[in-house]
Amino acid sequence: MKLLSRGSRLYSILHFRCPRCQKGKVFQEPNPYVISRMFKMHETCSHCGLRYELEPSFFYGSMYVSYAYSVAFFVATYVLMSLIYDPGIWDVVIALAVILLLLTPLIFRLARITWLNFFVKYNPDKRGPRAK
Ligand SMILES: [Zn+2]
Repeated sequence: MKLLSRGSRLYSILHFRCPRCQKGKVFQEPNPYVISRMFKMHETCSHCGLRYELEPSFFYGSMYVSYAYSVAFFVATYVLMSLIYDPGIWDVVIALAVILLLLTPLIFRLARITWLNFFVKYNPDKRGPRAK
């Protein structure tokens, strides 16, 4: 599948790899559910040297992406529940709270790597600290 092959943004996002070379890892801990190391990112790509924080406070913008992912998961959960039975309001609220609790580490990482992919293009030949 071309969409998931190296060179596509989706590859970088789903494998948590550097958006520029797609070889270096972005997060220090491969498992997002190791909560104590959940936020730890490499400063630069070990392969191409891209500095992940493109500017100070760069990752604040990923909160918008995180919100979008959360809403998408909520809608998917609600639709799935509605297909199975007619859920009451508290069924939905509890299901969404559980989903949010379980998926927060994953959504956090997806949001950051997606945000990074908005600004950095795949360019396997480029080396150095900056995206441009
Ligand atoms: Zn890289």
